[in-house]
Amino acid sequence: MSFRIGCHLSSAGGYLAMGQTAGSIGANVFQFFTRNPRGGAAKPIDRQDVRDFLAYAAEKGLGPILAHAPYTLNAAGAEARVREFAEATMADDLRRLELTPGALYNFHPGSHVGQGTEAGIELIASMLARILADFGSVPSTTILLETMAGKGSEVGRTFEEVRAIIDRTVERLSDSASNIERATLNSRLGVCLDTCHVWDGGYDIVGDLDGVLAEFDRVIGLDRLRAIHLNDSMNARGAHKDRHACIGKGKIGEEALARVINHSRLRDLPFYLETPCDLDGYRKEIALLKSLRTA
Ligand SMILES: [Zn+2]
Ligand SMILES: [Zn+2]
Repeated sequence: MSFRIGCHLSSAGGYLAMGQTAGSIGANVFQFFTRNPRGGAAKPIDRQDVRDFLAYAAEKGLGPILAHAPYTLNAAGAEARVREFAEATMADDLRRLELTPGALYNFHPGSHVGQGTEAGIELIASMLARILADFGSVPSTTILLETMAGKGSEVGRTFEEVRAIIDRTVERLSDSASNIERATLNSRLGVCLDTCHVWDGGYDIVGDLDGVLAEFDRVIGLDRLRAIHLNDSMNARGAHKDRHACIGKGKIGEEALARVINHSRLRDLPFYLETPCDLDGYRKEIALLKSLRTA
């Protein structure tokens, strides 16, 4: 399969503009925020723009697109108001994404803010199950839990926590969905592995990528892995910091990231850069990564 590589883009100009920007920097996938990452309301969707984008994407072989939920979305918040915002936002995002079928939707599982990891897992899973059960049909979008660095009280630093959220969601769904729907809904739950986050979270993807992937496979199952956030890290392994660095400029390094994009279990996944770059920086990183990609 061809190398699917792209980066985070501004959604200010709409879908077609993002597609054209991606094309202009050598990307064939891209990520964007569904709404202001620190705010609430989403812009109304321009249906003509979506139609134009879909035609462009089909012509250029662009995709899948990865929609990123706002950072303020916290399904594990202590206050009902915070959790209600998270649920309403995700449900709305997923409805809007039906206009671009087959998209990926990535979110940070949440921060338990002192309630404990177990309580956080329960809150996140019950929210996901309610959203999926109430959707009315099986969404065409795959929801991805992002692996986290473990900053503050973030849930989802360990593969075990990610697995627990998925298992609990599937359990909750069994109360509301028929068997067939349940199987399809289950396939709409996946994971996005962020190289900076897992490194900051303590997993040695530099010294032992095979070991980390074997661990992922044992705990979660590599079939759940649907996307990679490809980032270098400013900090040492296990720092729980979550500060992204440009490719080859951080503690993970170019060689280790080259092994990630070429690994037999990863190479067919889409890769999304979230490095601290402007567009020209992304263009150079994409060119660099293409040069590091083995046939
Ligand atoms: Zn990420
Ligand atoms: Zn991050």
